[in-house]
Amino acid sequence: MIRANDNYSKLKASYLFSDIAKRVDEYQLKNPEAQIIRLGIGDVTRALAPAVIKGFHEGVDEMARDATFRGYGPEQGYDFLRDQIAKNDFQDRGADISADEIFVSDGAKCDTGNFQELFAKDITMAIPDPVYPAYLDTNVMAGRTGEFEGGRYGGIVYMDCLKENNFLPKLPDEKVDLIYLCFPNNPTGSTATKEELKVWVDYARENKALILFDAAYESFIRDEALPKTIYEIEGARQVAVEFRSFSKTAGFTGTRCAFTIVPKDCMIFNSKEDKVSLHAMWNRRHSTKFNGVSYPVQKAAQAVYSEEGKAQVRDQIAYYLNNADIIRKTVEFLGFDYVGGKNSPYIWIDGKDRDSWDFFDLLLSRASVVCTPGAGFGRCGKQYIRISAFNSLENVTEAMDRLKGALQ
Ligand code: PLP
Repeated sequence: MIRANDNYSKLKASYLFSDIAKRVDEYQLKNPEAQIIRLGIGDVTRALAPAVIKGFHEGVDEMARDATFRGYGPEQGYDFLRDQIAKNDFQDRGADISADEIFVSDGAKCDTGNFQELFAKDITMAIPDPVYPAYLDTNVMAGRTGEFEGGRYGGIVYMDCLKENNFLPKLPDEKVDLIYLCFPNNPTGSTATKEELKVWVDYARENKALILFDAAYESFIRDEALPKTIYEIEGARQVAVEFRSFSKTAGFTGTRCAFTIVPKDCMIFNSKEDKVSLHAMWNRRHSTKFNGVSYPVQKAAQAVYSEEGKAQVRDQIAYYLNNADIIRKTVEFLGFDYVGGKNSPYIWIDGKDRDSWDFFDLLLSRASVVCTPGAGFGRCGKQYIRISAFNSLENVTEAMDRLKGALQ
């Protein structure tokens, strides 16, 4: 008899964004005239930069001629891309990362979700609340949690990120083996300083733990003092893996290209407590289950690092950050507390006594604006909503005017 993985039945029935889509569809059906503005899902709206399109086209043209055609490429990514990543994103910032420590992939969602395969079933994990859901759900699927009760899975050490702690997780009281961190954060938009990250790196070193650091939004950091990579922190090479993506950096959500950094001196421990190379394990996993990102897409990603590419991508980020400024100012004007939006495309708004789904319904019914209810990211999000800056300037301005009208 073919039997199912029972862990899947522990997962909450539906995905947050399908619940949102259902409510929005119902609203549109009842209000066919309503011009809905979507500031919910974190998807980019601007076209790929001209330099990126040029690189993409060159890649496609090469595939059209036998002399330059490419079949399977290296699973870890082409050197032309890995070299650019190592230099521009790490070495130029003083972070000691080499090209062969970079694994190019088709998304940070897959990488953050797949990485847990390398760890034993009975490790203790610390996961922030609120959180990007993929970290949690993939561990549920793998059988590392108990049942979902009272808004939380058994067996996980949740790290509450609340106003009281500046939306930064505190070191857990009990000893943990694996720590998920994400800065700039999705959903809160909060950031961490070098000193704040150092506390985690030191903890991991002292406790033989590992940090999985998601830096998918690093390109939104405009405060020069903030770290863009965990490898700016001394000692991080031994205890941290970092996930990056071109999705939000360069508008690749539909094009698909990302990368994961696994330093060669990052060691974990087998059941005999012998050291095992995480780099060797991930290399084995990646080359067994993945066959590389398509050549034209890697050419497009390489173009992000050309002089024009850098300038054009910087302009795109500035465009979204300008939207974030408009949202922040409106939220301030309306008297709400919030975090994020300064070095992040997300603004996390405190609805005070309002439940996050009620707040969501209020914005939809009174302003035809879609946000994301914080409860979808964890129990600590139940009085928050997330507004995303990923939309056109016109739509963001219109949405904020409507909010002023609806909530003042
Ligand atoms: N990590 C975080 C924190 C995200 O918010 C997202 C996407 O929204 C991802 C990873 C996924 O990125 P990708 O498009 O590379 O799969």
